[in-house]
Amino acid sequence: MDCIKCNTKSCRITEQCHAQKFDTEELMLTYHLPENMKIIQAAAKLVDNGRAGTLSRLQEVIEFSKSMKFQRIGIAYCYGMEIEAALITTIFRESGFKVFPVSCTTGGFKQSEVNISSKIEKVSCNPLAQAGQLNKENVDFTITVGLCMGHDILFNKHINSYTSTLIVKDRVHDHNPIDALKN
Ligand code: SF4
Repeated sequence: MDCIKCNTKSCRITEQCHAQKFDTEELMLTYHLPENMKIIQAAAKLVDNGRAGTLSRLQEVIEFSKSMKFQRIGIAYCYGMEIEAALITTIFRESGFKVFPVSCTTGGFKQSEVNISSKIEKVSCNPLAQAGQLNKENVDFTITVGLCMGHDILFNKHINSYTSTLIVKDRVHDHNPIDALKN
């Protein structure tokens, strides 16, 4: 499938296409499982009835968390964004959530310990410990804030809760990767 090169874009008028390989009936059943329906409906509330474009991502995350009746929110953040993580924590606490902010440096592991080809003795990012800690805190939902490329993969693979990215790290473009596509 190459949706960019496709000339018909027939899916956009709700028609199936010859390139698709997934099992439509199976997917529909999966959507209709109660736990998935809850997410689909909470997501729809953010954009349906003319609301698309009226909420910031931060506002969306808060409203989505309320719709889902999440109580315990994890914040997995890069220590370089601690000021932002603190602000996010305060905003969520003021919105009534129990919040568990966990720094990427949790555990105090050295880079030479985590990466067997590194001789650097400074503290390492530790996405497995971030996920492990938040799993023990039994959070309902985790928001990631500025995790490094690659560390985010390990974090997302090992966190048990639902998770979504609020801030993506892009040191060159003020954490706004779309800027790399503009001239
Ligand atoms: S019709 Fe098929 S190939 Fe074309 S954009 Fe839709 S999914 Fe992609």
